[in-house]
Amino acid sequence: MEGPSIHLAAEQLRPFVGRKVGTVTGNSRIGIERFRGKTVRDIFAWGKHLVFQFDTFALRVHFMLWGTFAATVRGMSVTGDYRRSGPPRLVLTFSNGEITIWSASLKFVEDAAARRDYDFTADIMSDTWDPKAAFRKVRAFPREEIADVLLDQAIFAGVGNIIKNEVLFRTRTSPFARVGKISDRKLRAIIADARVFSMRFLELRRIFALRKNLEIYRRSACPNCHGKVYRRVHGERGRRSFFCASCQKVPKGRLVTPAGAVSRGGARARRVSVASRSSGASTASDRRAASPRSGRKGSS
Ligand SMILES: [Zn+2]
Repeated sequence: MEGPSIHLAAEQLRPFVGRKVGTVTGNSRIGIERFRGKTVRDIFAWGKHLVFQFDTFALRVHFMLWGTFAATVRGMSVTGDYRRSGPPRLVLTFSNGEITIWSASLKFVEDAAARRDYDFTADIMSDTWDPKAAFRKVRAFPREEIADVLLDQAIFAGVGNIIKNEVLFRTRTSPFARVGKISDRKLRAIIADARVFSMRFLELRRIFALRKNLEIYRRSACPNCHGKVYRRVHGERGRRSFFCASCQKVPKGRLVTPAGAVSRGGARARRVSVASRSSGASTASDRRAASPRSGRKGSS
């Protein structure tokens, strides 16, 4: 689930605001019986988080890589990006429907107004999204590959692997390009397109037309030059990039992967990169990714 899908979920689940939780089931061990009889005061999205605010606390749902949900809202069916079966983590019922959540990380936030814990200027879907702030933050990582930095939730909250790949293709950028080698003009274009494409993602999701409109993600031929689309797991995060070597000017050395080296490559690259970074910048960044605003109570 990427930011636009979670943004859409918050919108679709809005009829639960003001409703009281009826039954509560699920295999989560955070103490979910606490929800019973509590009234939902607000539902909002931030990056890949979906937050249910109650009177004195909030539930933060972080969809991670494969988390998803399904809901019935006033008789209408609403679903996340993936289909799931098996034991759900949490099921909440209301008088006007119910929501089921799978494979997500659930956490209580002990705050009567959890919205305050979030920096919405870093949320790609927010009206207060700040591209200039993103530019400054990206420039702090000159040795990082742009594909990794685009997934940094402290900079681009809500950007996932689909948005990353599409934006890099749309701006004709090599996923392996180091931030320090990217011109200001190009970097501004990438940041601007992260927003533009995320908005398009949202509109396509609304009409169930996302997958067929993706240009590079999980494609086999480039829609521009009809060349081969390569797939490589790389970078500190070990995530997969899909790219056209010709349109995105990817160096030849990046196209050759020795047999069997792909899975090991991700882990090795991660160790080397973390070790080579100075003064714990990566750990601070990763902590920020897990927690929307560092240094605030109850937000991690
Ligand atoms: Zn191409």
